[in-house]
Amino acid sequence: SMASNLVIPSSMKTEWKDIGGLQEIIEEIKEAVIDPFKHKELFASTRLVEPPKGVLLYGPPGCGKTMIAKAIAKATGARFLSLNVSSLVDKWYGESQKKAEAIFTLARKLQPTIIFIDEIDSFLRQRSFDDHEASSMIKTQFMSFWDGLTTDDRCQIVVIGATNRPKDVDPAILRRMPSKFYIGLPNLEQRKEILKLVLQNESVHHSVNLDEIAVLTEGWSGSDLRELCRAAAVLRVRKLIKLSEEITSTSSIPTSLGELDAEDFKKA
Ligand code: ATP
Repeated sequence: SMASNLVIPSSMKTEWKDIGGLQEIIEEIKEAVIDPFKHKELFASTRLVEPPKGVLLYGPPGCGKTMIAKAIAKATGARFLSLNVSSLVDKWYGESQKKAEAIFTLARKLQPTIIFIDEIDSFLRQRSFDDHEASSMIKTQFMSFWDGLTTDDRCQIVVIGATNRPKDVDPAILRRMPSKFYIGLPNLEQRKEILKLVLQNESVHHSVNLDEIAVLTEGWSGSDLRELCRAAAVLRVRKLIKLSEEITSTSSIPTSLGELDAEDFKKA
């Protein structure tokens, strides 16, 4: 169907406990997003406080914005529709409009639903449009579907946008995301936590000093740290392969050889 090639299905494996070093932000998100989502009926008693229909996660790449959006879906029991920005844009205005409508129709059918829009800054920016007017019509159309969520009290749909460039997000779109959370680069303590999380199911030699690695990786994102660990693990696997090829006798490989050691990290 039209909607299905616009959304990327994903397994909802990400939980709060998989996200390192962001406890404070997570608490804020629980209060501002999860509680209203779960207790909609309590919010219906007043017009003054309304559950947010839009949430913006902003900050440098690879620091957990997508993870947070998925964890929100998991925590609320919501379906997660990840919107592929480029697929929404069609050179035919009528097609784009149909696509936008399909997303919201699907979201309603599946609700509770999180609609996740990564790189929301690039979203609805003209780029592939020569015709400025057409692009602004699509923007208006999309936002009116979005606004339709607010007028429906029973509707459990939240749009979560993520961006590395909050300044480039259209002001009209920004207004529809009153809850904004900055997800920054991890500090020393946070890097330590992320390293621990990434390595929690790995066997790691005692020569590996996570504190030291955390000190040496200032300015690295969670994604960079994960990549480092992955590179170390690749080296370890290569060593094991080489060893197993060298060993012709039935003598067993010492188990410690399967552990990631300090040397693996240095080389990685
Ligand atoms: P982008 O802006 O590039 O989309 P993002 O902020 O959405 O980045 P994620 O996709 O959530 O980043 O993170 C990328 C990967 O980096 C995650 O899948 C995870 O493996 C790792 N990672 C990033 N931040 C953390 C964190 N705080 N704790 C644990 N792992 C993390």
